[in-house]
Amino acid sequence: MSTIPLQEFLRRATEKCADLTHRATIQRNIDSYDVAVAKGKQRFSDWEAARSRCSEIKAEAIAHLDRYLEQFEGKVKERGGHVFWAETAEDARQYIAGLAQSRGVKTIVKSKSMVTEEIHLSGALEKQGAAVWETDLGEYIVQLRNEPPYHIVTPAMHLTRVQIAQTFREKIPSEMNGEEPPQLVAAARRKLRKAFFSAEMGISGANFLVADAGMVAISTNEGNGRLTTTLPRIHVAITGIEKIIPRLSDLATLWPVLATAGTGQPITTYSTLIGGPRQPGETDGPEEFHVVLLDNGRSQVLASREHREMLKCIRCGACLNVCPVYRQIGGHAYGTTYQGPIGSVLTPNLKPSAGFEHLAFASSLCSACGSACPVRINLPHQLLLNRRDAMAKTGQSGSRTMFRLFRWTAMSSVRFRVMGWLSRKGISTAKALGIAGSKLDPMRPWTQYRNGPEVPTQTFREWWRTHGRQ
Ligand code: SF4
Repeated sequence: MSTIPLQEFLRRATEKCADLTHRATIQRNIDSYDVAVAKGKQRFSDWEAARSRCSEIKAEAIAHLDRYLEQFEGKVKERGGHVFWAETAEDARQYIAGLAQSRGVKTIVKSKSMVTEEIHLSGALEKQGAAVWETDLGEYIVQLRNEPPYHIVTPAMHLTRVQIAQTFREKIPSEMNGEEPPQLVAAARRKLRKAFFSAEMGISGANFLVADAGMVAISTNEGNGRLTTTLPRIHVAITGIEKIIPRLSDLATLWPVLATAGTGQPITTYSTLIGGPRQPGETDGPEEFHVVLLDNGRSQVLASREHREMLKCIRCGACLNVCPVYRQIGGHAYGTTYQGPIGSVLTPNLKPSAGFEHLAFASSLCSACGSACPVRINLPHQLLLNRRDAMAKTGQSGSRTMFRLFRWTAMSSVRFRVMGWLSRKGISTAKALGIAGSKLDPMRPWTQYRNGPEVPTQTFREWWRTHGRQ
C-alpha cells in the first residue's frame, strides 16, 4: 500500500468533484444499484432480523477467531490441502511466488480478490516472469488500463461503455468485432479462455472460510471463479483471517445477505464451496490446494476492543454506495485498497504508520454507512474514534482550540459582543484587502473548498431591537 499524503488526496478529490462526466457515470451506476437493493431487501421477510443474525455470526467468529481458524486448518489438511499462515504481506507474497517458481508456473489466472490487491501480489508474480490474468470482467478491464480497482465489488464502475470499448480497441484489437456490451464481453471471454486453458495456477480470494466444514466459500457472477479454482493444476486461495465463520449452516443467512447488500441479487450466480485438492475418483479440481491465511495488521485490530468490530466486514460495498463523499470523489481518490467508509476506518488501523489518518475526516458523518451495513458495524462511531486517534497522533488540536475559544467567548455577553464585532470587522477588512480566500487567509484550508459565510450587516441584538417586539 503506497502512502498518499493529504494534499494528494485533496487534489484527486477536487479533480474528481469537478469532473461532471465521472460524477454522472457514478450517479447512474449507483442509482441502478439503489433500485436493485431496495427490491432485493423486500424479498426478505425481515431484513433487519437478517442483518442482526449476520452481525451475531460474525461477532461470534471474531470472538473465537483462533479456535475457528485452527478447526478450519485441521479440516483442510485432512483432505490433503495446505494452509499457510502469513503474518505480513511480504510473507504471503513470498509463499505464493515461491510456490509458483518451484512448480514452474508461467501463467496464472486470478478471480476477484481484494486481499491480493492489498498485498500487491500480481506485481510480485510478474516480477519473476509469470503472466497474471485477472479474469473477473471488471478486474480485467482495470488491469488493461493499468488502474487499481475503483470499488471493492464493482472495480470498473467508473467507466462508460465507450471508455471500455476504447480500452479494448487499444489493448486487445484482434478480439474486437463490435462495441456493444455483448460484443465487448465476448472479446474479453475469447481472450481469457486461452489464459484459463494454459494456466498452471489459479488464485482466488474467499468470501468466507467455513470452520466446521473446512471449506472456502466463493461468490461470483461470471463463472470465472469456478474456472480459476478447477482448471489449473494448483489452486491458491488467499484471504484475511477475519473471513472465518463458524458453521456451514451460517451461509444460509450470510450468502443471501451478502448478495443483496452487494448487488441487490437474491444470491450470486455462482456460490462455490472448495475443501481441498481433487480426491481419488473425482473428475475435476486441482492437484494441489493451498490456503493462505493473511494477518497483515488484523491481529492488531482484533486486540483493540474499540476497533475489533471492523473485522465483521463482509466486503459487500454497501457503505461505499451510500456514502455522499464516495459518490462525489469516487474510489481512486482515496489511494487505498479498500475505499469509502470501510476503507477510511480500516486502512489507518491495518497500517498505522502509512499516513492515512486524514481519511477519518473524509466523511460527512451522516451515518448512512452505518444504516446500510448488513453486519451492523457502527461505521460513524469508528470514524469518530479514528478522528480522535488521528488528532492524538498528529498533535493537531485546531478544533479543540477553536471550541475552547468559543466556550470562553460564549460564557460572557461582553466577550461575545466584542468577539462578534472583531470577527465582523476582521472578515470585512480581509475581504476589502483581497486577503479572504488568498494564501494569506488563515481560514483558507476551509474556505478553499467551501463558500465562507456572508458577514451580517447587524448583530442579532441590533436586529431584535427593531424587529423582536413587533
Ligand atoms: S463495512 Fe459493512 S457495508 Fe461496508 S463493506 Fe463492510 S460489510 Fe459492507
